[in-house]
Amino acid sequence: MARIDDAIKDLIVETGRNMITTGMTVGTWGNISVRDPEHGYMYISPSGMNYDSIERHHVVVLDLELNHIDGEFEPSVEKHMHAAAYRTRADVHAVVHTHPIYSSVFGVVEMPLPAVSEDFAQIVGASVSVALPYALPGTPELGRVAAQALGSNNAVILPRHGALSVGPTMEMALKVSRVLEKNAQIYLYARLLGEPKLFAPGEVEMMQSFMQDHYGRKNREMSAAQRP
Ligand SMILES: [Zn+2]
Repeated sequence: MARIDDAIKDLIVETGRNMITTGMTVGTWGNISVRDPEHGYMYISPSGMNYDSIERHHVVVLDLELNHIDGEFEPSVEKHMHAAAYRTRADVHAVVHTHPIYSSVFGVVEMPLPAVSEDFAQIVGASVSVALPYALPGTPELGRVAAQALGSNNAVILPRHGALSVGPTMEMALKVSRVLEKNAQIYLYARLLGEPKLFAPGEVEMMQSFMQDHYGRKNREMSAAQRP
């Protein structure tokens, strides 16, 4: 019998509460999951529950073919989309799906969102695609289309629906989700004032490799060395 990791369930609970207090989602919309590095199982938030009432025993564990592993509650209806992201990206261990205002605008006009801020360029990519054609929420089709449009980026916009952000950790997936929304807001305001200036070819890749290789690396190594 597979060992179920309560620490991962607690991470889902805490992240859900954090999403409510930071205004990242409204009511029961949006859903989050984490991939267990040991077994590859997906720990996902339950369907239709307010994040402030979710407790450890409400979290559902599935394998990536969506077979039930643990938990008595119904998993999020977007389980197909979460599993599709893990199946297509070995580097992804956390998925956050939200219904944010500014990023969703790009899904309504079906327009890709270009990088217009350095944080977005560093951790999301040169631009984020809209997952087309439109697929109904909760369908395996939405999972297929979203995973394909995600490609090697860390976020994708779902037309007339919301956004999907991924990362190697939940902390990073949440950061991507916030930076995506901030970049969308900046781009929209910039369009009101004039024509936004975009990064030159190669600049985004340079920022990404700098981020990976240098930025904060010494501090990260020092804090790892100091850990007991
Ligand atoms: Zn949704």
